[in-house]
Amino acid sequence: MSTAAAASTNQLLQALSRKQAQHLCACCYPVDLTCGTILCEPGVPIRNVYFPHDCAISLLTPVGDIWAEVGLVGSEGLVGATLALGVPVSAVRMLVQRSGTALRMSAASFRRELKKSAPLKRQIDYHLYTRIVQMAQTASCNRYHSVRSRLVLRLLLTQDRVHSNEFDLTQEFLARMLGIRRASVVHAASTLRKEHLIRYSRGHITILDRKGLERASCVCFPAAKDRSANALT
Ligand SMILES: [Zn+2]
Repeated sequence: MSTAAAASTNQLLQALSRKQAQHLCACCYPVDLTCGTILCEPGVPIRNVYFPHDCAISLLTPVGDIWAEVGLVGSEGLVGATLALGVPVSAVRMLVQRSGTALRMSAASFRRELKKSAPLKRQIDYHLYTRIVQMAQTASCNRYHSVRSRLVLRLLLTQDRVHSNEFDLTQEFLARMLGIRRASVVHAASTLRKEHLIRYSRGHITILDRKGLERASCVCFPAAKDRSANALT
C-alpha cells in the first residue's frame, strides 16, 4: 500500500491541511502490522509512532500478572502520541489487536515536526484529550456497568476504529481485555446474538444491527463521542 493510500483514512492526518499532511507523510513509511505484535512495552523508549489506517492497537496496563485494556487506537488517531508530552518512554504496552496497515514515523522525526507545526501539535493535543476521555469512561464503565454493556461498548469502539462490520476478537481475548471470566463473555455475546445484533462464530464477529447495538449500549458510548466532538469547538 502506498503512503498516500495509508494516510487516506487516518482522521488525524485528514484534519491537517493537504500540504501539511503531505509533508508529514513524506517522513513516514507504510508498514503492515500483524495481530499479536507488541510495538512497545511500559518503561521502554518509544522508537516510532504509528498512524493506523485499518489496524487497531490496544493500550494495556499490567495488573498483577494480567494486562487490562485502558485504550484502543485506530484510524481516529495515533499510537505513541505521549511523546508530545515530552516523556520519551511508554506508559503502556502497545499490542496490535487487528492486523492492518499503518504509517510509521520515527520518534525523532515526530518530535521535530511537532516543533515546526502548530496545527499538528493542536491535533495531537486533541487526540490526547480524547484518550483521557476514553480512559475516564472506561474506568467508570468498568465500575458501574454490566458485562453486557461493556462488551457492547467494546464492539462499537472497535467498529468505529477499523471501519468494518467484521473483525476478529476471540472470547479469551475479550475476557482478558475486559478483565472478566470467559464464561461471562460467552453469556453476554450469546444474548446479543439471540437479539440478532451480532453474529459470532469462532472469534469472528459481524455487526448485524449497528443502531440496535447503540440502543443496547450504556450511556458511556454517546457520552464519549459527544465530548470528543466538542473538544475543538
Ligand atoms: Zn458504560
